[in-house]
Amino acid sequence: MNGLSQTWLLAVAANLLPAPCLAAPSQKCGVEALGVARTIMVDGSEKLALGLQSYPRTLALEDHEVVLTFDDGPSPLTARVLDALAAQCVRATFFVVGRDAESAPALVRRAIAEGHSVGHHSYSHPERTLRLMSEAAAKADIDKGIAAVEQSGYGAASHTPHTPFFRFPGFADTPALVAWLSERKIAVFGSDLWASDWLEMTPQAELELVLSRLEAARKGIVLFHDTRPSTAAMLPDFLRALKERGYRVAHIVPGAGLTPIQPAKPDWKSTTEPIIEKILGARAPGAARAGKKGM
Ligand SMILES: [Zn+2]
Repeated sequence: MNGLSQTWLLAVAANLLPAPCLAAPSQKCGVEALGVARTIMVDGSEKLALGLQSYPRTLALEDHEVVLTFDDGPSPLTARVLDALAAQCVRATFFVVGRDAESAPALVRRAIAEGHSVGHHSYSHPERTLRLMSEAAAKADIDKGIAAVEQSGYGAASHTPHTPFFRFPGFADTPALVAWLSERKIAVFGSDLWASDWLEMTPQAELELVLSRLEAARKGIVLFHDTRPSTAAMLPDFLRALKERGYRVAHIVPGAGLTPIQPAKPDWKSTTEPIIEKILGARAPGAARAGKKGM
């Protein structure tokens, strides 16, 4: 170590200089920034389906550790979400809709350039869900979505994704589709808790709701939507609150190695399945859902 770097390290230790930012090497963040505490490699070949709201196992996170995920973008609000994450040197995972990636490829490329993981969320986010489509049509929609995101983000319409992460729209999976994704070395992500941000609410109400759920769960994979105005508006306050309350951000990235997995408690029940059954059962096949895109 030369004298200059030693002096610099001592200055950092004494809080005289901002620490280097783990989340965005090109951007310096002060010690007050939330940053990224840990990067977790997820190997798609492990046949993973994770997230306690839908599956009986999840990432083994430490107490007060969160993984931030955003679905349904890119949208006109995505830049605001990216700005809020960059301001805190935080990295997140975006589950992107292929059709919208085609419309806004620059946002997909920006998310990738800023170190976020860009996973997949189907091409059309079908109102009837992938579950109610024929298996062939569902597979085609998933593949078309992957190709659209790859084309938008990396310039080549491959069916082999750079980031082999998939989240089912509305969590409406099928065993056959999960198995098919597993065979293709694509990890399926649910969530451990969500902000219910598909509902109309004020940013303050969403902030209080998600923080209360997080305080109850103490950790987890958190689901937001970068299509929702309340989420874009509350995100800076949410990230500040995470820092103030001692939470740390884990960032999931594709990579080889054993993914840390935590099994559910023996009395585990799916949160999403009763909701999916209620929504799909109450609606005639093909009928449009009221309101905006949901989970
Ligand atoms: Zn969605």
